[in-house]
Amino acid sequence: MIARRAFLAASAALAAFPRAAFAAVSRLALTGSFEQGSLVLGKVDAGSRIAIDGTMVDVSPAGDFAFGFAYDQKKPCVIAARFTDETRETRIVQPVARQYEIQRITGLPEKFVTLPPEVLERRKREVAMIAAAHARDSDMEWFSEKFDWPVAGIISGTFGSQRILNGKAMAPHFGVDIAARAGTPIAAPAPARVALAGPDFYLEGGLTILDHGHGVTTSYLHQSRQAVKAGDNVVRGQVIGEVGMTGRATGPHLHWGLNWFQIRLDPSRSARTPAPARA
Ligand SMILES: [Zn+2]
Repeated sequence: MIARRAFLAASAALAAFPRAAFAAVSRLALTGSFEQGSLVLGKVDAGSRIAIDGTMVDVSPAGDFAFGFAYDQKKPCVIAARFTDETRETRIVQPVARQYEIQRITGLPEKFVTLPPEVLERRKREVAMIAAAHARDSDMEWFSEKFDWPVAGIISGTFGSQRILNGKAMAPHFGVDIAARAGTPIAAPAPARVALAGPDFYLEGGLTILDHGHGVTTSYLHQSRQAVKAGDNVVRGQVIGEVGMTGRATGPHLHWGLNWFQIRLDPSRSARTPAPARA
């Protein structure tokens, strides 16, 4: 009680000298769900510099920047800001731990569980193309806009699920699956430039990767038809393709992915529109 009264008194004193008060107030704003596997958006005064865990990240002319927590990250991120007046501020943010679902699917054809040896070379090339799209560090500023869900449907798979296929533990599911009829249009969730668009990736099928800038990309898998090509600029809501079941898919759905560079994130945590219903 005494501490609270002292705090209120101090606040009142600072309010009387607003200029002095600003020095004590944070100049580093962070927004997001702060969970494992989520994107964090940051805002500082224009011209400030930011390092995440000791690595500089781009800050837009408006003062926006982004970073992500890995899906299994247990350590905090250290965000260090250096403002134009050479003052500094450091923030240590511990990601909130998530409990991921376990999804067991049995009776799948073996091609869903292991890669046949004859596709390994092809797969290596595809993985390199996808990694290159995720590595882009472009200066577009669309990353700081929240996403609209790209398709209407039913959520049939969540981010981070531990998949056990035919009894074999697979890599976690790094995206959100939205089941919808084949041919359902897929809309860009925010403005972007198309980083990669190809109709026939071995696992992803018809794949489009959208670059929103500063390492933030979103991915669209298993499309039956694509309406954009690499280098195109798209506006929010523009149809980029159609839902399908190309690549490794057991039924028509959109697998929607989000990355900060190579770190895979949960796009559902960065959406501004309500999520579709769960299956
Ligand atoms: Zn999926």
